[in-house]
Amino acid sequence: MLQATDLPNDSVIPSVGRVYVEAGARKYPDTSRILEKLGDIPVQEIGHYKDVFNRPGQHFQVQKHSPALILAVERETLLYDGKFRVASWGSQLPLYYNAPVRNCVYNCDYCFLQGMHTSGHLVVFVNIQDFFDAARDRAEHGPIFLSISYLTDLLAMEPLIPICERWIRFAEEQPNLTIEIRTKSDLFRVLRHMEAPENTVLSFSLSPDRIARRYERGCAPLHGRVLAAREALRAGWRVRLCIDPMVRTEGWKILYSRFIADVFSRLPVDAIEEISFGVVRLAPDFLKRIHNMRHDSDMLHYPFVTETGSNYGTVATYPEAARNEMKAALEQELLRFVPPEKIHFVHG
Ligand code: SF4
Repeated sequence: MLQATDLPNDSVIPSVGRVYVEAGARKYPDTSRILEKLGDIPVQEIGHYKDVFNRPGQHFQVQKHSPALILAVERETLLYDGKFRVASWGSQLPLYYNAPVRNCVYNCDYCFLQGMHTSGHLVVFVNIQDFFDAARDRAEHGPIFLSISYLTDLLAMEPLIPICERWIRFAEEQPNLTIEIRTKSDLFRVLRHMEAPENTVLSFSLSPDRIARRYERGCAPLHGRVLAAREALRAGWRVRLCIDPMVRTEGWKILYSRFIADVFSRLPVDAIEEISFGVVRLAPDFLKRIHNMRHDSDMLHYPFVTETGSNYGTVATYPEAARNEMKAALEQELLRFVPPEKIHFVHG
């Protein structure tokens, strides 16, 4: 039987062409560790990461071909209210997110980061203890749910810097803290030496193989993600699945139907905590910026509409009829395998 370990080894250090180091980041041990791991690579010291990251005239997609890595210290926001942003689960807990890393080693066509940031470079904040302190302070007031990979795919960065592992260990000591690590990687193997934690949810983001290959550039193929999810489940980890965003592309109905049957023939439904799904949606100003920048992806040029909802703000998305059709179709497929209480439709 094929195991995740039999897959081609993609647990490699993300490829970067140059490193910028903030002067203030030099003293942090992670800075030296990362530089050591990257070996012989041009390193340039800078004053503040925004001098590079927010520099005018950059092109996100051009930089994605050979991104630089910026090692910096986050001095501003260490915890964001995620009520409108990460309302992806039926969780009644207050939702938060943070950004230990900004930008991603992957390059999904629908990714909002390309509308949010002018730069495609990766920023790693090396002052992890400050992020811990902020989460701990908030959790002291009551239970919270914290997404630590909202602005990146953190698990994909794990071979370079084990931020996930540190957060998992930290969350185990915080009774009020549940963290979510969402990924399109198949890198569960970098965590498999750990005991299954109680306060961490691993969310595997899945799409039909054809859609993943076409629109989720650089991400692990579907079968790899499913194998990783299966291995995590077998090891007793809390696992959720995320079919988000659904892409309305040619033949979408049959693609999603076969995909659901395929996924649930390989994963034990009983052990999965929850399955969430939603359709493509982007902040309208982000979509406008993306449209100005690139014309190479048909899915970005769908005639989207702009709409506002009380729990997700204003988004550009599929027209209501299309959205309802997609929701009904996926729900119908899911209900063949999954009890309704485990299915959660999201739109923001
Ligand atoms: S994996 Fe997530 S964060 Fe990374 S490019 Fe894709 S959508 Fe963006």
